[in-house]
Amino acid sequence: MTATIIDGKSVAANVRRNCRARVDDLWRRFGASPGLAVIMVGDNPASTVYVRKKIQACADVGIKSHKFLFSATESQDVVIAKIQELSADPDIHGILVQLPLPKHFDLKAVLGAIDREKDVDGFHLYNVGGLVVGETVFPPCTPYGVMLLLDNAGVEIAGRNAVVVGASNIVGKPMALMLMQREATVSVCHVKTRDLAQFTILADILIVAAGCPNLITGPMVKSGAVVIDVGINRLANGQLVGDCDFDAVRKRASMITPVPGGVGPMTVTMLLVNTINSAARSLNLAHEDFVFEEL
Ligand code: NAD
Repeated sequence: MTATIIDGKSVAANVRRNCRARVDDLWRRFGASPGLAVIMVGDNPASTVYVRKKIQACADVGIKSHKFLFSATESQDVVIAKIQELSADPDIHGILVQLPLPKHFDLKAVLGAIDREKDVDGFHLYNVGGLVVGETVFPPCTPYGVMLLLDNAGVEIAGRNAVVVGASNIVGKPMALMLMQREATVSVCHVKTRDLAQFTILADILIVAAGCPNLITGPMVKSGAVVIDVGINRLANGQLVGDCDFDAVRKRASMITPVPGGVGPMTVTMLLVNTINSAARSLNLAHEDFVFEEL
C-alpha cells in the first residue's frame, strides 16, 4: 500500500479563498473589517518567522493586523496593560500572544488577560473549558486544522480508534478532546508512555505531535491507517521533517500528511478563520447570516 498524500497546502489555499470572500462580505454588508493584534516579547528567531507568516496571511485575506513588539526585558505589567487596552478596542477582534514568552512571564496571567471573546488562539481557560464540553468559541488552531484536513479527506471519525502521540496543552490535549467530541475512541500517549508501539498499532487515525524525528516507524502503524504528522523538526543538515519515518510509514498508511506542506499551512489558516468568526460574532450576526462551518 502507498498512502495518498493529504495536501495541506491546497486545503489551506481553499480555506483562505473562503476567508477572503468572508472578509469582503463583512465589509460590503456591514462596513466591518476584522482586526488581529499580534504581541511578541523578545526576538526568538522562530517566533519572528511565525509572526511574519501570520501578518502576511492576514494581509492576503484582508484582515487588518497590528504588531506589538516588546523587548525580552519588558515587564509583564506593561504587556498585560497592552492586552487589556486591546481587549477593550472594538476594532480588534483577535489577540494573539506569540509563545514562548521570556522566563520571567507568568503564562497563565498573560493568557488570562486576553478578553475571552478575542482569544483566537483558544488558549484562555474559558475556551479550553469550552472544548471539554464541545462548545468552545475558538478551537485552538493546530488541532482545528487537523480536524478540517480529516473532514476534507473524507475520513470517518466516529467509532474509529484514534491515537494521539503528544499531550501538550496546545496540540495533543485539545486534539484528543476534539476527536472524542466526534465520537472516536481516543488514546493519548506521551513521553512517559511505555511501549508506544502497542498503542499506535491499534490506531485507525494516528496523530503525532511529539517533536521527535523518526519517532513513528513503519511497523508501528496499522495497515491502512490515516496518519497526521504534526511534528516540525529541523535536522542538523537543515532539512525540515515531521515525527514519522515518512517513507516507511507511507507504505503502511492509507493517507498521510507530509512535512512540510501538511498540518503547517492549516495552523495559520485557522487563525484567520477564528479572527473572521470573532469579527462576525462582534456584530451579533444571526447564524444563517454568517456560517463558517462550510469550509
Ligand atoms: P511540546 O514539547 O509542548 O509537547 C510534546 C509532547 O510530546 C509532550 O506531551 C511529550 O510528552 C510528548 N513526547 C515527547 N517525546 C515523546 C516520545 N519520545 N514519545 C511519546 N511522546 C513524546 O510540543 P508541542 O507544542 O505539542 O509540539 C509538538 C510538535 O508539533 C513539535 O514538533 C512542534 O514543532 C510541532 N507543532 C507543529 C505545528 C504545526 O502547525 N504543524 C503547531 C504546533 C506544534
